[in-house]
Amino acid sequence: MQKIIAANWKMFKTRPQAAQTAAELALALRTGTPKGRLAVVFAPFTDIAVVADAVAGVDGLAVGGQNFYPEDQGAFTGEISPAMLRDAGAQWLLTGHSERRHVFGETDALVARKTAYGLEKGFKVMLCVGETLEEREAGRLGEVLGRQLRSALEPLAADARAQLAGNFAIAYEPVWAIGTGRVAGPAEVLDAHAVTRGILAEILGATARELPILYGGSVKPDNAGALVDLDNVDGLLVGGASLEAKSFLQILGA
Ligand code: PEP
Repeated sequence: MQKIIAANWKMFKTRPQAAQTAAELALALRTGTPKGRLAVVFAPFTDIAVVADAVAGVDGLAVGGQNFYPEDQGAFTGEISPAMLRDAGAQWLLTGHSERRHVFGETDALVARKTAYGLEKGFKVMLCVGETLEEREAGRLGEVLGRQLRSALEPLAADARAQLAGNFAIAYEPVWAIGTGRVAGPAEVLDAHAVTRGILAEILGATARELPILYGGSVKPDNAGALVDLDNVDGLLVGGASLEAKSFLQILGA
């Protein structure tokens, strides 16, 4: 399976800053991405067009939106639609990120609506799942991942399920490892990814084997290689260390 290394720029970078980083990525990747990997940059709304312009024509480098509202248009002040993101140059959408769930109160139901809507509109969707420290310590990893995956995937109709391979990825991101510098250990990652793959198989059958499961949470150039080589780890979602082109490129090639 092609490994996906995704950058989540969160709420960082003005347009000139985004243009600079994207230009550095485009220059470094003009002859292709290392090991045939796919790079995806989830940029802030205002940076998407700038990044898409800077990386146009670079094979293996795609642009995504970090958030959206699941309607085409309408009276939804402050929101942005997938159609608008497509117009700006996004091909990917992120759903279920822990900051959306925990800082902005997005429920499993809203994450499910967004996931289904993004897929229906022809985007590639990356759904983030992960447990809090409290949930992990209470032995609830499987229950939490099961709830997050089932609520998003079980409602999908047969035709949507048939389109998942090639258009859908999961990012397992333990909440306690995001932005904290505390990366999950290999045993924790192996276990959580195996649990995730098992739940996907229960919901989707054989398709589960074709869906990439990325790890995210304090990935840095010095730990990326060991993480990306683990069983069932089909890529990485990188926050802080994706902001500088140099460190993101190191992770991409790790
Ligand atoms: C993220 O934003 O998805 C993330 C994993 O952040 P960080 O790499 O900074 O922990």
